[in-house]
Amino acid sequence: MKIPFNKPFFTGEESRHMQMAAIFGQISGNGAYTKKCHQFFEKGFGFGKALLTTSCSDALEMAAILSNIGPGDEVIMPSFTFVSTANAFILRGATIVFADVEPGYPNLDPVGVEKLITPRTRVIVLVHYSGVACQMDAFTRLAEAHNLILVEDAAHAIGSYYRKQPLGSIGHFGTFSFHETKNIISGEGGLLTINDKRFSARAEIIWEKGTNRAAFYRGEVNKYGWVDVGSSFLPSELIAAFLFAQLEAFKDIQKERLRVRRSYLEQLHFVNERGWATIPAIPDYATDNGNMFFMVTRDGEERDALIRHLNRDGIQAVFHYLPLHSSGFFSPRHDGRPLPNTDRFSECIIRLPFFSGLSEKEVAFVAKSVRRFFEKRG
Ligand SMILES: *Cc1c(COP(=O)(O)O)cnc(C)c1O
Repeated sequence: MKIPFNKPFFTGEESRHMQMAAIFGQISGNGAYTKKCHQFFEKGFGFGKALLTTSCSDALEMAAILSNIGPGDEVIMPSFTFVSTANAFILRGATIVFADVEPGYPNLDPVGVEKLITPRTRVIVLVHYSGVACQMDAFTRLAEAHNLILVEDAAHAIGSYYRKQPLGSIGHFGTFSFHETKNIISGEGGLLTINDKRFSARAEIIWEKGTNRAAFYRGEVNKYGWVDVGSSFLPSELIAAFLFAQLEAFKDIQKERLRVRRSYLEQLHFVNERGWATIPAIPDYATDNGNMFFMVTRDGEERDALIRHLNRDGIQAVFHYLPLHSSGFFSPRHDGRPLPNTDRFSECIIRLPFFSGLSEKEVAFVAKSVRRFFEKRG
């Protein structure tokens, strides 16, 4: 049996919607399908304003521009994240201050973050790892007390909640990814949410290359021109049409991914019981959105050996996140603070194959292979 790490899921309606977009006659951005997607997100999740973007990386760049970040400004974020979280702010000339994650879950630790706040701090970026919410009450309090902008990198977190609040609706900005490895996909794609009205008008301008074109098409101004900085952050209607097909099936997709999660939890709980590895529990303030399945091994050597073992059995398991603070690009810029929890998760996390349609039988095959590995080691 060969089990890939990911298989993009298609509802079967994508090409029909893309054809419809072509028939409508506008395939550039901000047309009918883009508006349908915006409505879906704004109505379904209570986002202040939703703007589709070409990627989560672009949504993060927009958040950095909207935060008015420049040289000398400090931005606190986890080192345990994808490069785009940091790149967006590096591109504005900001100083990145990497904070450690919690010991029990690879989400930013608010106690550690508070100690890193200085008069130059402007933004905190959170990552809801595997769709599990960060401690939002603590972060909202910090942001209010120090007048900081809160950005939720919710790339993993569509359809997940902190208590009753949808992730991506709590911070000033939220960013989502529709890359083919995420829950809802459009090949490449993303979403920026703007939950503070003060930023809405400017967000739309930055999105449309620094012009007030969107206002012009709504009839609010009688000509449009260059009014601010910006770029081409909006996806074409073809991408929006593809995404819309996925949104129509959103509930079913989430249900199916949660079934896969449950199947893994049932068939692999023995690793927890035997003390072989940890499957971190989801805190009671957070929800499971079926984003991924990962375990934390006892040490890095064992994790690498388990990945090799599974690969030999045809199972494509992977590690997750090389810490950004010790990357080739950033390590000369890092202030030298150790980030022990970040290092440990980076060395010990193993992600198992996860996609819609992964059968019980395949999960059982993975579980059997994992069991064989640990029984041999003890
Ligand atoms: C996937 C991911 C991104 C980047 O998303 P793209 O849509 O590929 O740009 C950013 N942050 C996190 C945490 C991610 O997992």
